[in-house]
Amino acid sequence: MTAGIRADETNVFPRFLDLAYPNIGRGDGVWLYTTDGDRILDACSGGAMVACLGHGVKELANAAADQAERIAYFYNHHFTNRPQEQLANRLLEVAPEMARVKFASGGSEANEAAIRLARAYHVELGQSQRWRLITPAQSYHGSTMGTLALSGRRRSLQEPYQDYLPEYFHLAPATPRFDPTGEAALEQLDQILMQAGPETISAFFCEPVSAAALPGYSPPARFWQGLAERRERYGFLVCFDEIVTGMGRVGSWLAAHDLPIEPDIVTIGKGLGAGYAPLAAVLCRARVYDAIVEGSREFDLGHTWDGAPLPCAVGLAVLDFMIKGRLVDRVRERGPRLREELAAALRGSTIVGAVRGRGFLLGVELVDPRDGKSFLPHELDAASLVDDTAFEEGLLVTSTHSTPDGFAGDEVLLAPAYTSTDEELAQMIDRFAATISSVERAIGRELARSPVATPMSR
Ligand code: PLP
Repeated sequence: MTAGIRADETNVFPRFLDLAYPNIGRGDGVWLYTTDGDRILDACSGGAMVACLGHGVKELANAAADQAERIAYFYNHHFTNRPQEQLANRLLEVAPEMARVKFASGGSEANEAAIRLARAYHVELGQSQRWRLITPAQSYHGSTMGTLALSGRRRSLQEPYQDYLPEYFHLAPATPRFDPTGEAALEQLDQILMQAGPETISAFFCEPVSAAALPGYSPPARFWQGLAERRERYGFLVCFDEIVTGMGRVGSWLAAHDLPIEPDIVTIGKGLGAGYAPLAAVLCRARVYDAIVEGSREFDLGHTWDGAPLPCAVGLAVLDFMIKGRLVDRVRERGPRLREELAAALRGSTIVGAVRGRGFLLGVELVDPRDGKSFLPHELDAASLVDDTAFEEGLLVTSTHSTPDGFAGDEVLLAPAYTSTDEELAQMIDRFAATISSVERAIGRELARSPVATPMSR
């Protein structure tokens, strides 16, 4: 793989100033082509689980061009438009339990709107003391101050912005390592409710199946049932962040469709524009909308691009493409076998602790080879090693670094496009298995040289 562009060679403000970024010139299906002529197999839908229909899809590009020629933009506060109206109707056909849709451009914006909507619901009902939120600690909901506060990752995410963030309550993840039944998480939830006063809680906010924060993880069924019972008892709302899982990623239109709980508010994003336009949405159930209809009849604040014709026309084309190709069914049918194939290819690796996930959202947990279960030492930075080695193998995956907060170790996320052929999926698995073998050897050498203590094996 070629060197790429470094911070001292560009006027762009890159994320990591020490990294050399390959320059991608074009994409075709699941292949990315660098301007230097390298070809990368994209096992993560553009890296952020967005390009779920692959790159360079003519129908989607044409839908954007057609709408841009007609009219690309005007402000949602003054007008509405057919693409927005039609897309809302079509989304409610695939999520019929929901009643209304509000569009945004990205996940953080949609989650901000969801926080405001939950709050507005309670205020409309005369319960203005409800504002607090409870969330799982090991989560990611966005980079705005409001959404950053939703996670409980103090040291790994929120510093040095802590002073700007409201204090919410957080649960430790109910993973098989800490809490296999979900009972400990429910106990912690009860303690939080008592400590905060349940009448002050606005919503429980979470990813039903985690993406980058804890790839492919979902709490056990008992947790969801217990959460539903407590919602009933105490009157808070349940908000699902389905920015990643919505639009078929886990084999159903919403991840919620396969869980024993129905959320009150859901946000979707990434796959809705599929990388052809920035697009996200907030969906809510009738009772949430009705509180506003029967109350102030106003839900103010939004963003410049909310519901604009261009992104909504792309969203419609994305939905058509998915339905025509029966792609959500494909993810549902193919997902379990993909996970088995991945697990089989990694079997025997001393650094792989678990392979989990649903549909085309798969996570691989890395562990310390010395005991096969503790997190790898943070100092090894195994996540970066995996991403860099995968690049050498011509593969794009996204890894999560072990958190100094102690909730998760190094994790790798695979989220291929729904349109990936069997042959391409097999190549992704081969390249990933080769990556893991190589990382395993490097880690073995590193541990033999300086056996660092294994922290965070809670
Ligand atoms: N929620 C989840 C689960 C995400 O994975 C992300 C982004 O990765 C977001 C929210 C934030 O979305 P955006 O980056 O579009 O603001």
